[in-house]
Amino acid sequence: MMHQMRAEYGADGEAGGVRLWHMVRGEESVAMCGRELDPAARVREAVDWGKTPELCCHTCGAYFLREAPYLAAEHP
Ligand SMILES: [Zn+2]
Repeated sequence: MMHQMRAEYGADGEAGGVRLWHMVRGEESVAMCGRELDPAARVREAVDWGKTPELCCHTCGAYFLREAPYLAAEHP
């Protein structure tokens, strides 16, 4: 199953920068933690999880570790 990271923005939208990175399945705009994200929000490859200067969603991280243990183990 493919995953990708999707950005959550603050009140200022994309101009305000990424507040938190979530993980979504495929092209979905609803994060694994259940949060609805802007379908137009920036995405990153799942391998960047935990490597961004911005924070990553802890709940998404827990789900992601369970669904993609190999990918996550390679990039803790
Ligand atoms: Zn999340």
